[in-house]
Amino acid sequence: MIQSQLKQIFGYDSFRPLQEDIIQNVLDKQDSLVVMPTGSGKSLCYQLPALEFPGLTVVVSPLISLMEDQVMQLRALGITAVFLNSTLDQLEQDWTADQIRSGAAKLLYAAPETLVQPRTLALLDQCNVDCLTIDEAHCISEWGHDFRPEYRQLVALRRRLPDAVCLAVTATATERVRQDIKTSLDISSAHEFVASFDRDNLMLTVEPKTDGLAQTINFLQAHPDESGIIYCATRKQVDFLAGELARRGWSVLPYHAGMDDNSRRHNQQQFIRDDVPIMVATIAFGMGINKPNVRFILHYDLPKNLESYYQQIGRAGRDGLPSDCLLLFSYADVQTINFFISQQDPSQQQGARVRLEAMLGFVETNVCRRRPLLNYFGEAYNKEDCQTCDNCTTEAGDLVDLTIPAQKFLSCVKRTGELFGVNHIIDVLRGSQSQKVLQRGHDKLSTYNIGLEFSKKEWQYLARQFVQQDLMVQDMEYGSLKLTDKAYAVFKGEPVHGTLPDKPQAAPSATAQANYDQNLFQLLRQKRKALADEAGVPPYVIFSDRTLVEMATYFPQSRASFGTLYGVGAAKLADFADVFVPIIQNYCVENGIEEVRKSAPTAVSSSSSTPGGRTLEVLNLYNNGRTLPDLCQQYNVKRSTILNHLWKAVQAGESLRASNLLEHSNLSPEQQQQALAAFAEHGTDYLRPVYVALNETVDYEELHLLRLHFVS
Ligand code: ADP
Ligand code: ZN
Repeated sequence: MIQSQLKQIFGYDSFRPLQEDIIQNVLDKQDSLVVMPTGSGKSLCYQLPALEFPGLTVVVSPLISLMEDQVMQLRALGITAVFLNSTLDQLEQDWTADQIRSGAAKLLYAAPETLVQPRTLALLDQCNVDCLTIDEAHCISEWGHDFRPEYRQLVALRRRLPDAVCLAVTATATERVRQDIKTSLDISSAHEFVASFDRDNLMLTVEPKTDGLAQTINFLQAHPDESGIIYCATRKQVDFLAGELARRGWSVLPYHAGMDDNSRRHNQQQFIRDDVPIMVATIAFGMGINKPNVRFILHYDLPKNLESYYQQIGRAGRDGLPSDCLLLFSYADVQTINFFISQQDPSQQQGARVRLEAMLGFVETNVCRRRPLLNYFGEAYNKEDCQTCDNCTTEAGDLVDLTIPAQKFLSCVKRTGELFGVNHIIDVLRGSQSQKVLQRGHDKLSTYNIGLEFSKKEWQYLARQFVQQDLMVQDMEYGSLKLTDKAYAVFKGEPVHGTLPDKPQAAPSATAQANYDQNLFQLLRQKRKALADEAGVPPYVIFSDRTLVEMATYFPQSRASFGTLYGVGAAKLADFADVFVPIIQNYCVENGIEEVRKSAPTAVSSSSSTPGGRTLEVLNLYNNGRTLPDLCQQYNVKRSTILNHLWKAVQAGESLRASNLLEHSNLSPEQQQQALAAFAEHGTDYLRPVYVALNETVDYEELHLLRLHFVS
């Protein structure tokens, strides 16, 4: 029953982990506390029951933008949802109240302060409320990171609605916060559902920050046309970086708390609507951003703890598609954060330092990054190889003997009295004439000017390894380096092994490996954007990227097969099939592509790159001497079908026997030569450019034939 609703209304084939249990529990009117990471599909846990319940589902939401977004998405699915907040005028309020009283509205979204107003309470008294959902429930706890005192008043509402099941959902909740939520809402016997916090579609990479701007540009170049967020530590940094990127022609906007409300709202809107793909922001940006197709998060500066880091990377890949998270790390950032910590209330400093240290543990680990990350959130991660972090995917570079550089570096640390940070040590090793070096007489040391074989950046890289190998520790407050017992062993000749700075760079971008027709995807995206602008909604309200990816993977040619796609339920089928299917059909005709049957649910990644059995069979027969007409006869199919099989085989890397396919062509030898020349010029990936180059005088079937001849 709920299974069929899942496809029929929401267009999904299967439940995500825990969703089904939670929904069942809610339908049984058992109070529930749900802790699931961002993007794991919490909303469905109350949206689907809301459709089953005869009465109303009230959803408490802390932010206006969040409720508006949800309501917009629900309406696109054909579900009547409303919200109450301070932005509505009298007319809209009256209409909303009518919808609620008449039972037309299945879901009501509101902020806590609106809900506890006498007027709202009176309205709720007039109808049956079956479910009270508290979204972002951690806001109720002083121990959480976004405490909202208004949330404390919700217990009164909860008591007033004894027939409503209570569902509290959040993405962040330590044990303490969980208890707090239950007590504050008076649902102490609520069933707890806690999902794994592993987001396996996020590629996690940490790179030493050597030249932040150049690294950023590099990273952006690996993500053309994709949407993402670059987080910086300060407003100044945001303005600087956004300016530098814009000057170089990148489409970016800044966002931070120092900007006025209007500019912030405007920039956020531009980002959400895919008008501007890249946002450069401080942590002020992100709360209430529901955009599912954020493809990358770049941390330009070190986040101050793993909670922040996890929350920020959580904004990537909510649609479940691969997304890239890169953190640029420098020890200078550690010192900056330490400085800010020292300005805090003394009672909070200790905790902040411990959390920073856990952040460093994550950054410096050489085991799978998911281990320290998930351990921090109380979850054991036991897989050997996650396949989506830099430590698991980069080949361990060949280990080389670093004993001599280590001895040089460590002894320089010792001779300067274990009082200085990495950069000063490097200055001494590289014979710097800086004031700091000369004033302290460090140019007189025996380690002065003995390290010219490595650049400054290379020494920084080596120094990080020495820290990771426990040869020295860095003072958390001042950044100064101190030697450990292990360092003394190195002085005595204990060897040190490690990697040299030119180790392979971060793995290729996670999203670049996508295996679907990029050109069709772009066409579909343009259409989606046009429809969204027309309707005044963000593009993802029309379809998620994931749905477009499926279109560009399976090439559905009929309403029926369009209906099997991810995210296509009854309402979207009715609204959009006639818009998108013809685009796909045209594209397929032009490019000689056939529909691929979508078999296993959510098989997006296992795309059509390996040819099927029939294709290989045709190829083998052909390579063993059968001709085109032979094969048409044998399979009783049109010539274009055989040509398609052969082309697919070629695309999959198979080779075709050399033969004169031109003898089957109806074109004059002159036309044939022109066509072959056009393939040489435009390439063989797509037929359309060649079709156009020949003034549309040669039909596609001929072009298929000539292309095969060209490549064989
Ligand atoms: P959360 O509130 O947990 O951050 P959402 O409820 O916004 O996450 O869901 C994240 C994305 O996952 C949305 O795009 C949603 O439509 C999609 N989604 C939810 N449940 C499923 C499912 N069972 N199958 C496929 N996609 C789903
Ligand atoms: Zn890993």
